[in-house]
Amino acid sequence: MNANVSQRTALPEEDVPPDSSPGFGGKKAVLSGPVSRSNPNEQQPLRRSVSFNASQVSRNEPNEIQPGEASKKFLQQFFPGVPLSDWNNWKWQLRNSFTSLGQLSQIIALSGAEKQVLLSQGTYLPFRLTPYYASLLSDPHYGSAIRKAMIPTIHELDIADGEHSDPLNEEASSPVPHLVHRYPDRVLFLATGFCSAYCRYCTRTHMVAKEKVHFNRSWEPALQYIREHKEIRDVLISGGDPLTMPDRMLEQLLTELRAIPHVEILRIGTKVPVVLPQRITPQLTGMLKQFHPLMISIHFMHSVELTPETSEACIRLADAGMPLGSQTVLLKGINDDIDIMKKLMQGLLKIRVRPYYLYQCDPIPGSAEFRIPVQKGLEIIHGLRGFTSGYAVPHYVIDAPGGGGKIPLLPEYVQGWENGNIILKNYEGKIFFYPDAG
Ligand code: SF4
Repeated sequence: MNANVSQRTALPEEDVPPDSSPGFGGKKAVLSGPVSRSNPNEQQPLRRSVSFNASQVSRNEPNEIQPGEASKKFLQQFFPGVPLSDWNNWKWQLRNSFTSLGQLSQIIALSGAEKQVLLSQGTYLPFRLTPYYASLLSDPHYGSAIRKAMIPTIHELDIADGEHSDPLNEEASSPVPHLVHRYPDRVLFLATGFCSAYCRYCTRTHMVAKEKVHFNRSWEPALQYIREHKEIRDVLISGGDPLTMPDRMLEQLLTELRAIPHVEILRIGTKVPVVLPQRITPQLTGMLKQFHPLMISIHFMHSVELTPETSEACIRLADAGMPLGSQTVLLKGINDDIDIMKKLMQGLLKIRVRPYYLYQCDPIPGSAEFRIPVQKGLEIIHGLRGFTSGYAVPHYVIDAPGGGGKIPLLPEYVQGWENGNIILKNYEGKIFFYPDAG
């Protein structure tokens, strides 16, 4: 692993992701025949006393996000001798991420289905966890949720009917590389393919972790497309995870986009505050707030993620003036429960994140173990609406396979019309009549 670090840092730091997981540089996954996969199975030593060249890591930044008790315990147990200031440094977190199940097996006992991945030819996505996020695996109540969402099992290789590597057909809606233009007035800008942790249910399995570098050297056609299309007033920067890019690279992109007169709002889609909260430095928030209106959509999965570190990261972003929204994927055996979902949504409001979207899991290859019946999703929404603050109720949507866009799903509150009245069912199941106009 240290050899990887020295090879990587021989290149300009701004040009490469801070670490290279085994899947980087892999070919695109295919759905039939031999699959080109990442290898989360290489046996690599866990760096208990991490020895890397300090000159390869930027200096610790002031106002570090302070670790919670779980982080401190994990650090002492698995990285003895590593100072807190390193743990609090986002680049240290990236460079010391777990990128193989062999490494991970030194901190948890792998299950049979996880061990079988060690014997397989790999998975569609590489495996990657920051040490911070790995520390949540030891949560006595909900560590299993993180485990199921982030650690590959052999079941990931079972392809069910209707599953595709690009279920939303984004490639067909991509007029130039790294840009998806599906809706009339907004575009998705895929700034990088790198994430600091790879979710096993990722919609963009078809493009994340496929190239070794961030995409900054090939952004220009996408920028030019936006300049030439005056109807585009909203740009969502996503990937991969844009907040894994260095400040200067992200600032360059935001500057280019802000210079386009018809672009009114900018958005960033990220999971970094959840898996790498140390990234949310004062330097980053100070840079981001130059580009208002700038909104942040944060990918949350479970209330176990609402740690002191993530809370601080979100509050920093909110204090810098960015409206924060959440995106959550409904996942079988992880968050498909009214109480779990309510706890997450209420917890998000406490750290100033407005629940925004609840997604039905997209049918990517191997996702059958994550997908639940839509009826269950409707029951969860029914269990939230009226039973908690309206602000805590996200929009439940299916992103239509093939590229139809987001389609909202609601329980049947409208029961019909009768004698000029609309018949309504409230959250308790009671029937009411409203005199409809006209
Ligand atoms: S953070 Fe987002 S883009 Fe990255 S692996 Fe997870 S779902 Fe995919």
